Amino acid sequence: IPVDPFDLVIFGGTGDLARRKILPGLFRRFCAGQMPREARIIGAARTELDASGYRDVVAEAIGEFIGHHDYTKDQLTDFLSHLDYVPIDALGETGWKELQELMAGSPHIEAYYFSVGPRLFGDLAERLQRWGMADSECRIVVEKPFGRDLATARELNQTLATYFNEDQIYRIDHYLGKETVQNLMAVRFGNMLFEPLWNAQYVDHIQITVAETVGVGGRAEYYDKAGAMRDMVQNHLMQLLCLIAMEPPARFDPDAVRDEKLKVIRALDPVKPHHLVRGQYGAEPGNEEEMPDYRTAVDNPRSRTESFVALKTHISNWRWASTPFYLRTGKRMAARSSEITVVFKDTPHSIFAEDAGRHRNVLSIQLQPNEGITLGVTIKEPGPGGMRLIDVPLDMTFAEALGEEGAEQVDAYERLIMDVIRGNQTLFMRGDEVEAAWAWTDPIISGWEARNDVPKPYDSGSEGPTDATELMRRDSREWRKVS
Ligand code: NAD
Repeated sequence: IPVDPFDLVIFGGTGDLARRKILPGLFRRFCAGQMPREARIIGAARTELDASGYRDVVAEAIGEFIGHHDYTKDQLTDFLSHLDYVPIDALGETGWKELQELMAGSPHIEAYYFSVGPRLFGDLAERLQRWGMADSECRIVVEKPFGRDLATARELNQTLATYFNEDQIYRIDHYLGKETVQNLMAVRFGNMLFEPLWNAQYVDHIQITVAETVGVGGRAEYYDKAGAMRDMVQNHLMQLLCLIAMEPPARFDPDAVRDEKLKVIRALDPVKPHHLVRGQYGAEPGNEEEMPDYRTAVDNPRSRTESFVALKTHISNWRWASTPFYLRTGKRMAARSSEITVVFKDTPHSIFAEDAGRHRNVLSIQLQPNEGITLGVTIKEPGPGGMRLIDVPLDMTFAEALGEEGAEQVDAYERLIMDVIRGNQTLFMRGDEVEAAWAWTDPIISGWEARNDVPKPYDSGSEGPTDATELMRRDSREWRKVS
């Protein structure tokens, strides 16, 4: 079903994110018939280009990031005809009159995507208003990072609030746009089976891992000032934690869901120093040239920035009081894997012989590299070998049951952009959520700074520092293997 006609202005429309994610995503929605004929996409960036030059840039990006067999030439030509471009300076006056003229009198939904560095967010907002484009109907989309601590996030929220209402501001966390994240909510709140067991009485612990194989890549300058806590934990991991731990909202609507998420963050215990592990990757043994250590990659021989964090925390409420939550994220790890794992407790008593084997139910929600939900259940090993118990995964992804159409892979960005046009904020972070998340992470970071903490080294291609393994082992538990 097509969304309503829209004009989407992409500030930073020539940048890496726009070329890799936003424009290919819009093109896929166009091919799927979701973009109406009247829709316009207007690139606005510093680069000097005209509309035809911009179409070339976008055509090249689509060629690079979408397989050629996935679309026809006609589809591409048709899509490109929706594109326009304005060279603009977020910090100056160039281009604003032209943009205003393009937008004037348009009856469409207006959305402005801030795909530029965060230091430009305030300037863009102010100029949109000054040029009469910030009316109460339009929407703005802001990218991460949203601040670097509570003070800067608050300041940014206040700046945006000067020009826009909260219901116009769409703060992106693309983890929330993943199919499986929504499937997690369907599984939790659409079944009688799980919710009664979803608490400290039945759940032994929950672990959330976001492991990457890549290093800092081209983001060295930004990353060395941020680190894994700011870049990954404060946003992505905490969002996943909220969705797995929140109370059932009364309705599946934006504020009902976000109210419940906020309560989780506010109930989080401060993290004790001995429940925290920071790491920094070293070179890959035997491959130092291609996979150099972190400090070489960021060209800062004394850097104390972490590329890995593992921590244990608790949520102080009735549901979760005694259930530990373990969070872990790192770069240059053994494999690319994002997973939430709910490990249920042992059965209270085993009626089988000791050597029959004993397994815990494990619900595993994978977000990367493949999306899917599986539940490990214990059954009898088939065959004549007597009563031996094995663990088999029940696949809840339903790709087979739904057929090809049901299993259509929609990238997180595509879904989120369409949600912006539909005016649905459920999968976007509210300002108070972001601030609460910073309020929890700030003391962790300032604690490290006060102690002059040196991150523990770990080899590229490994499971992270041994201290992270130890954090679990002390509690007689184990991380799920990344590789
Ligand atoms: P980029 O450096 O590749 O692109 C920046 C864009 O902003 C360019 O189009 C440039 O022309 C434009 N720009 C810069 N200064 C400008 C000015 N004064 N006026 C108008 N336009 C200006 O950056 P990117 O990687 O595309 O990232 C954009 C935003 O998205 C950043 O906030 C970044 O943190 C965020 N982000 C990026 C990624 C990613 O994968 N690239 C992922 C998550 C979040």
